[in-house]
Amino acid sequence: MKLNDIKIKPKTCRICRDKYVPYRALSPVCEKYECKVAYAIKSAEKAAIAREKKAKREHKEKLAKIKTRQEHLREAQRHFNLYVRIRDADLPCISCQRFHSGQYHAGHYRSVGSAPHLRFNELNCHRQCSVCNNHLSGNQLKYRQGLIAKLGIEAVEQLEADNAPKHYTIEEIQAIKVKYKQLTKQLKESQS
Ligand SMILES: [Zn+2]
Ligand SMILES: [Zn+2]
Repeated sequence: MKLNDIKIKPKTCRICRDKYVPYRALSPVCEKYECKVAYAIKSAEKAAIAREKKAKREHKEKLAKIKTRQEHLREAQRHFNLYVRIRDADLPCISCQRFHSGQYHAGHYRSVGSAPHLRFNELNCHRQCSVCNNHLSGNQLKYRQGLIAKLGIEAVEQLEADNAPKHYTIEEIQAIKVKYKQLTKQLKESQS
């Protein structure tokens, strides 16, 4: 059987719109050189746009993941801080050593912003009055004195020297949240 015997339906060239008989079944353009070149350029442009779209989508997905990670961190921090406040319920403000009425926070000795690896370190976080925490920026010097009285100088110096970064996975952050939720519950039960 010769090729000429088969009726091949002519196709329309995607570039010049001429009718042509496709010798290669997959060729979407006619046999003219300009059409082949024009089609190759068009395909490359299309591929570049697709790649760009894919990169944009992946970037967006990545951002969404980071956002949920930050949400997880915030949630876990809330439970950790609540635990610290209840753990220290009978103690005065770590900085000013006063038992005054008003709001108390869980104040980090080394702040979450500057030492995020210590954000869930129990030795680094203590009951602190809102005056010291908010208005005196942690009342740092007094905090150190209170911390030395509570933990001893060695533990404080260890804390100050601890710069090993911590990289929590989302699963680990969730586990921290669960841990402090349970610890708070146990504390509340034992205190009541
Ligand atoms: Zn053509
Ligand atoms: Zn205070």
